[in-house]
Amino acid sequence: MGKPARQDGASSLTPSIASDSFKLLLSSGCLLAGITHMAFGLLFYQAKVLPMAQVNIASVLTYLLAALLLRHNKVALAMFMMIAEVAAHAILAVIAVGWESGFHYYLLIVIPVFLANQLNKWPFKIGFATLIGGAYVALDWYWRKAAPAYQMDLGTLAYLHRFNLVTTIAILSGLTVLYVHLITQAEERLHELATTDSLTGLMNRRSMLAALEHEQAVRQRQPHDTCVLLVDIDHFKKLNDTFGHNMGDWALKAVADVLESGVREMDFVARWGGEEFLIVLPFANKATALPVAERLRLAISELRFPSSGHALRVSATLGLAELRADERVDQAIQRADAALYKGKDEGRNQVVVSAG
Ligand code: GH3
Ligand code: MG
Ligand code: MG
Repeated sequence: MGKPARQDGASSLTPSIASDSFKLLLSSGCLLAGITHMAFGLLFYQAKVLPMAQVNIASVLTYLLAALLLRHNKVALAMFMMIAEVAAHAILAVIAVGWESGFHYYLLIVIPVFLANQLNKWPFKIGFATLIGGAYVALDWYWRKAAPAYQMDLGTLAYLHRFNLVTTIAILSGLTVLYVHLITQAEERLHELATTDSLTGLMNRRSMLAALEHEQAVRQRQPHDTCVLLVDIDHFKKLNDTFGHNMGDWALKAVADVLESGVREMDFVARWGGEEFLIVLPFANKATALPVAERLRLAISELRFPSSGHALRVSATLGLAELRADERVDQAIQRADAALYKGKDEGRNQVVVSAG
């Protein structure tokens, strides 16, 4: 198990990665579809299929309206308009210029896009998808062989078919890549939320427990020195009461920064409790860990909070324990805790090493 990358504790929770991306996807879709339909409008105008040229003008206006709705955050309505446009357009185009034009492929895109949207409820989504699927089968049944209302020249029709096929493949591939990307992003965010402390960005207790288990397993295979160091901010309750909870949070972040930057890359630093931190130092014994602990204590006591406008200072008491050969990590943590409380009793702002 690797050490999780430290995250910025101030980063806000993203309410829904999917919803923002979905809006962006629809906006881009409006632009692309608007341009494509203008081109189709010209093509049908030149091919003298005037009703289809008019349908394309209506489509361009629909996408313009959908883009405006998106701007005003009416995402569900915009999406439904776009999907209805694609479906209606595909059906009308097949009726007008025939199955061979390949416009029916667009109906197939509508089904997964509509099923994947998070704005509608499942019964509606399934109902609508069934309707579109049914329309596709019906078109295939009645219009594959039927004579179209307008006979386009065969060369143009073949070109149109290939264009619609390639566009459908490109859109379906693009959507698949986008959905996989969104799922990966959401998984990473969930992992980050589950393993880091949101205030300080350090590992949280749960993530530290997993790291401790890993350290225990490594020590069994390859015995080595390990130290645990508990850090508890002194009189933190008083600091909160005097300067306010926000300043308390500020102090917690500042202490977390000192701890994180004051140890080696291979060491684990976690927020263990409210104003208590746990550091695990693999491949360190009492003699090498003590100067580290002293340095951390000094750096915390030298922290100044100029923005507070008050003479705000913090100090911390540290309890250090080296793991015995036959000892479990949690037992060593208990000894570090006992050492820490000895330090509290003896006046705070000091490092106490457990005798064990
Ligand atoms: P000691 O020197 O003996 O450690 O005294 P203390 O006041 O630091 O210890 P105590 O356990 O009495 O109080 C800890 C305080 O830490 C109480 C709690 O309100 C505060 N605290 C815990 N988590 C947070 C937090 O996330 N933000 C802030 N601002 N305060 C917190
Ligand atoms: Mg305390
Ligand atoms: Mg405490």
